[in-house]
Amino acid sequence: MEFKEFANVLEKLSGTTKRLEMISILSELFQKTDPETIDKVVYMIQGKLYPDYLGVEIGIAEKLAAKALSNITGIDVEEIAQQTSKIGDLGSVAEQLLQKKKQITLFSEPLTVERVHSSLDKVAKVSGPGAQETKLRILSGLLSESSPLEAKYLIRFVIGTLRLGVADYTILDGLASAFTGGKENRELIEKAYNSSSDLGIVAKVLAKEGVEALRKFSATTGRPIRSMLAERLTTAQEVVEKMGGEVSVEYKLDGERVQIHKKDGVSLFSRRLENITHHFPDIVKTAQNNLLFKEGIVEGEIVAVDPNTGEMRPFQELMHRRRKYEVEKTMEEVPTMLYLFDILALNGKDLTQTPYKQRRRLLIENVEEDASIKVVPNVTTSNPEEIEKFMNQAISEGCEGVVIKDPNSVYRAGAREFSWIKLKREYRSELADTLDLVIVGAFYGKGKRTGKYGAYLLAAYDDEKDMFESVSKVGTGFTDEDLEKFQKILNQYKIKDKHSRVNSNVKVDVWFIPQIVIEVIASEITLSPIYTAGYGIFKKDTGLALRFPKFTGRIRDDKAPEDSTTVREIIELYQRKLSKISREGEQTS
Ligand code: ATP
Repeated sequence: MEFKEFANVLEKLSGTTKRLEMISILSELFQKTDPETIDKVVYMIQGKLYPDYLGVEIGIAEKLAAKALSNITGIDVEEIAQQTSKIGDLGSVAEQLLQKKKQITLFSEPLTVERVHSSLDKVAKVSGPGAQETKLRILSGLLSESSPLEAKYLIRFVIGTLRLGVADYTILDGLASAFTGGKENRELIEKAYNSSSDLGIVAKVLAKEGVEALRKFSATTGRPIRSMLAERLTTAQEVVEKMGGEVSVEYKLDGERVQIHKKDGVSLFSRRLENITHHFPDIVKTAQNNLLFKEGIVEGEIVAVDPNTGEMRPFQELMHRRRKYEVEKTMEEVPTMLYLFDILALNGKDLTQTPYKQRRRLLIENVEEDASIKVVPNVTTSNPEEIEKFMNQAISEGCEGVVIKDPNSVYRAGAREFSWIKLKREYRSELADTLDLVIVGAFYGKGKRTGKYGAYLLAAYDDEKDMFESVSKVGTGFTDEDLEKFQKILNQYKIKDKHSRVNSNVKVDVWFIPQIVIEVIASEITLSPIYTAGYGIFKKDTGLALRFPKFTGRIRDDKAPEDSTTVREIIELYQRKLSKISREGEQTS
């Protein structure tokens, strides 16, 4: 495919905020694309060269891209930098500069998506002395063959500011519309994606072999499986009633979720399916030594422990490990333990469709426990009192509560269902649980906070509409350092107007691309005419809002914006509150 054609599509996608329009643009593009190239086209729409789990980064900073632009236009780097800070986007500057420049060279071979991809692949892989020069040379070469529009998108792509606002589910819909029809086929496509986390591979198989071929997707070592998630309930009694019969009750550890793939080596994937192998060399070693199979996939939670007592420490301490360059140091300061809770593949066999009780048995058989690794403690019972007792024990040992699992359930990749239910300590407080919400806007502060962001507009994710719905404004719980840090991080995502995937009636001073997820706690959920979450569901022209929200101090870097608390969950929490009120009313009347 000619890169010119692809750049035109990117221009169209950038120009729309409507999901249906995006789907139709993508559908048309996918139909036109050679099946051999479609994987690359999909990754590039996502703003990357390969799926996240491979951890390949192009590694071109804005400065280097500006230098390449300067090389081919002859315009000073400083002037380019000045124009960029005025317009706010180096891509647009490239477009303008190339429009002014007379194209003198005529190329016999037009630039293609394949060639751009393979050149940038070289850029991503080059390392060692002279790497920067090589990157500069390749990028300058590509730019010299580009039209103004191609240059705009090439630059945005390499410096990571493509930001088309196309969600994974929109791409799935685009693929469905291009290659199949019907709800069942759409489900097949989504299932293949959930078990591979790789939209490019799904697209390629679909385009080359047809929708039926997607049935062969299964858990494959090396490709992360999208995480199964838990629903929430408030009491042990409710859980037992919901599941019926015996349940498996496990510690809910307060750490970082990890999916471990072991074949020749060991790879670790986060809840967001990023490759985090390098952050945890100690866990890699443990997996190598204590997982008794040759090939397989297990899941668990990495927990920080006290170096002196071995007791569990809070999740925040683990986040230091995320700072790549300090791994060696933090390994000593924040030692970890691995608690495993699931096995998804064993020696080439996909276990996701095997009932949980058998998976747990296989997990126990395949782990050699020691001080660094354990299978998460559990009890199997149908007695709510026993669940309560176990939960108190879990909390006294530093856990958040328990996760209760249906022993007969399969592993439903990417799904949040009632075959896993979490029961937490906070559920006993007024509002059940903390919420993880996305920052979509900021308000300037007053007094001491004048000129700085003093409060933020938060949104919940609507997974049906693929939109972020405003639900609260939060200004408490932040330390001065927090506010400073937040401002710095968020300024990278500043945009002129409200993002196309954000719904809000509230006007803010500054809008952001939905990217940063924070944890908040609130006293309750109430009706509100101001916010758009659950709009019109309980009352006309009225949505739901948080009352007295407070930042807990925790940034959820382990969550993508689409992993934040959903509007559906907030609606359920409100419904639960209503039924509690009506139950209490019945008791007192
Ligand atoms: P929370 O915000 O409550 O931590 P979450 O939104 O991150 O939850 P949920 O699906 O709601 O994710 O809860 C499941 C999470 O709990 C898992 O992602 C995992 O990280 C963690 N966890 C801890 N212990 C267990 C366990 N025994 N089984 C499954 N998940 C567990």
